[in-house]
Amino acid sequence: MTENFCVFLDAGHGGLDKNGKYTTAPSKMYQHSQGNFHDGHFFYEGVWNRTLTNRVAAKLDKLGISNIMVSHEYVDISLDYRVDMANWYYRNFRKGIYISNHANASGSGAARGFEVYTSPGPTASDKIAEFHWNNVKDLLGSRISMRADTSDNDHDKEARFFVLTRTVMPAMLVEHLFFDNYDDASLLMDDEIVERFAEAQVRTVINFMNS
Ligand SMILES: [Zn+2]
Repeated sequence: MTENFCVFLDAGHGGLDKNGKYTTAPSKMYQHSQGNFHDGHFFYEGVWNRTLTNRVAAKLDKLGISNIMVSHEYVDISLDYRVDMANWYYRNFRKGIYISNHANASGSGAARGFEVYTSPGPTASDKIAEFHWNNVKDLLGSRISMRADTSDNDHDKEARFFVLTRTVMPAMLVEHLFFDNYDDASLLMDDEIVERFAEAQVRTVINFMNS
């Protein structure tokens, strides 16, 4: 497809190191009272982020779409390094997008659903987020809750997250359901759900490349 287009993929936080130790803050994991997640009742957000992001990368590879993983296999490397890496390579590609993959936590365990974030104000990122909203709705809308902010005439939420404001290319941060909610966490362990979230992301990339 487009030779000078690159997708910068960021699996948020860190994962499990070679000794099975979780490298990320305790707030990025949750111990449920039941169920079987990444380690018994424990759900590790960083591990899930990697499962999804690796699947997106594999799909992009099959399509011949350049992609660079700016997160580490398991180390929770700084956001500064991730963004710097993406910005450095972007100068050589000239076109591309940055996608940061996460799952959410509310603290109470009560919240559920999917959200997509861009930096505040109207930018090219809003177009990507709107493509993504529609692709997720098409592929998963009947199974998940969709959380929108429509006050500015689109569905994305806006926040000054580092990876959204410091990246030089259009960027979105996706919150895939709430891992501290048992029902949402159970959905995230379903391979078909992961497959559909990954497929939605690839379709969003293609929509944006063709726009
Ligand atoms: Zn996160």
